[in-house]
Amino acid sequence: MLIVLHHWATEKDVESINKTILKLGLKPMAIPGAERTAIGVIGNQGWVDDAPFRLLKAVMETIHVTKPYKLVSRDFHPADTVVTLGKKVRTGGRSPFLVIAGPCAIEGRDQIFRTAEFLVKQGIQVLRAGAFKPRTSPHSFQGMREEGIRLLDEVRKEFGMLVVTEVMSPEHLGMIAEHVDILQIGARNMQNFDLLNEAGRSKRPVILKRGLSATVEEWLASAEYILLGGNPNVVLCERGIRTFETATRNTSDLAIIPLVKSLSHLPVIFDPSHATGRRDLVPPMALASIVAGAHGVMLEVHPEPERALSDGPQSLHFRELEKLNGRIIKLADFVKKSL
Ligand code: PEP
Ligand code: MN
Repeated sequence: MLIVLHHWATEKDVESINKTILKLGLKPMAIPGAERTAIGVIGNQGWVDDAPFRLLKAVMETIHVTKPYKLVSRDFHPADTVVTLGKKVRTGGRSPFLVIAGPCAIEGRDQIFRTAEFLVKQGIQVLRAGAFKPRTSPHSFQGMREEGIRLLDEVRKEFGMLVVTEVMSPEHLGMIAEHVDILQIGARNMQNFDLLNEAGRSKRPVILKRGLSATVEEWLASAEYILLGGNPNVVLCERGIRTFETATRNTSDLAIIPLVKSLSHLPVIFDPSHATGRRDLVPPMALASIVAGAHGVMLEVHPEPERALSDGPQSLHFRELEKLNGRIIKLADFVKKSL
């Protein structure tokens, strides 16, 4: 970290800042300039909190040289991380392109079983479905909660599929982790730090979605919580961000896929359903993400999207998913061989 002082800062100011740095177990290094002095803080192993300096009168600004994450960064861990889901599905690195699909929410036994049966026929091994739903309005369907988790556990046993579901609060994480293979932390909870810490203590892989207005740095810092807690199995999921544009539900930020892959060793997948909010835009954007370098996609599909209790307009019909899955397999293969 660099502490930049106002031009009028005195020797006494510098001395007192140096003392604070030393008290934190770090080393101050004066960097005199023509206009003003800066003090470099060295010797830190990770992120240094700038709070003790920010409010001092003589300090003009603090500049973080060290990123707020370390364990998730490529500098720290140059090789790609391959996350194992269940016993045999792998994602990240050169693993096959991963397709996760399922309804936004579990709505009942018939709906989830029909979907699972269809996905298995497509060769799709990971089912997504929400039991605890983070809905904007409290009047909207909130999910089947515990009952939904029970149904997911049934699906998993009946079809031998891996299941992923969202966890909204730390209190539920242990119970949910007993019944599912992969935990999802949704966009709205990307900075629920208690939840991130709890996910760090879990043995289950975690799909961490990017927050609605989160910067890449904030997203990676959230992933850092999980790794720091002792769980290295994190998959990042870009799901679109909020911008001035309202023509699509969110704005698909595909550029961050290659960017994040350069900054971090973690696998990165894309969710074109929430990124666009429109089923007609899902196939082209899913395919685009393959070319951008995504390790996989997460798609919403429903046996009867018109009757879905949540996210119907962005959910694919079975026949649309079947067509898209065929194209994904072909394009992923082509990209792997040619790029
Ligand atoms: C979801 O996956 O259904 C969901 C709620 O996603 P997000 O957290 O990205 O909005
Ligand atoms: Mn949804």
